Amino acid sequence: MKAVFDHKEKINHNVTTFWWRLPRKVKFTAGQFTELYLPHKNPDERGKKHWFTISASPTNNLWSITTKDAGAKGSSFKKTLFKLKEGAEVDLAEPMGDFVLPKDKSIPLVFVAGGIGVTPFHSIVQYLLDTGEKREIQFIWALNEARDAIFLDLFKKYGIKPVLFVKEKGQSLTSQKILKLTGKAKRIYISGPEPMVETFMEELEKLGVPKNELVGDFFPGYPPI
Ligand SMILES: Cc1cc2nc3c(=O)[nH]c(=O)nc-3n(C[C@H](O)[C@H](O)[C@H](O)COP(=O)(O)OP(=O)(O)OC[C@H]3O[C@@H](n4cnc5c(N)ncnc54)[C@H](O)[C@@H]3O)c2cc1C
Repeated sequence: MKAVFDHKEKINHNVTTFWWRLPRKVKFTAGQFTELYLPHKNPDERGKKHWFTISASPTNNLWSITTKDAGAKGSSFKKTLFKLKEGAEVDLAEPMGDFVLPKDKSIPLVFVAGGIGVTPFHSIVQYLLDTGEKREIQFIWALNEARDAIFLDLFKKYGIKPVLFVKEKGQSLTSQKILKLTGKAKRIYISGPEPMVETFMEELEKLGVPKNELVGDFFPGYPPI
């Protein structure tokens, strides 16, 4: 469907949220994603289409995506996106994906993010705040640098205090550490760079977490943290 670029919002030194107006109200569930088609001249091998989580809450009339700018080393797609002019028309796919909360509100949840993998959790927590829905949530976040921790005010409003593992401080997150922090009887949502999510999903299953208690959102194209 056609969408119009409304405005952008700088979140930190290299993360920006891009807001889009849709031709009609399109329903989605917090945690789902879309695909942005951005035609441009001489695309590199990363192409003209990218998947992005809808980082806004479904309670918002606008949609948003939140992404990282790799600067001069970035793909032709990202360079085009970061130079986009307000009012530009793009194509966004219908929402999709099952990285969404369980219907049973009593299940305690663990969110595990790697860097920019926080985006579905932003949508979910904003939705829970807007609707006043109460869930038990623990949040564990692996970051390259301390300044990569974004959206902290939103999480604080919902009473979530993320446990941070910051690589530049020599703190690395492992599956054993996830289990030590959470115990086993919880639904674990993992979102971030593809290799990181794959490793945690495999290891946690080997460590005894039932497969149906693990939900993954895999971002290709980013190196592991
Ligand atoms: C379901 C789903 C949801 C997603 N949600 C999000 C989201 O919310 N936010 C988000 O940011 N991403 C999200 N992604 C990932 C997104 O689709 C891109 O893969 C990601 O943003 C990386 O973009 P890029 O390939 O343009 O690389 P860039 O962001 O430009 O760069 C990333 C890294 O790759 C290197 N690089 C860039 N271009 C090249 C190249 N041509 N050759 C070799 N190395 C290169 C850069 O130096 C940098 O280290 C999602 C993916 C999926 C499947």
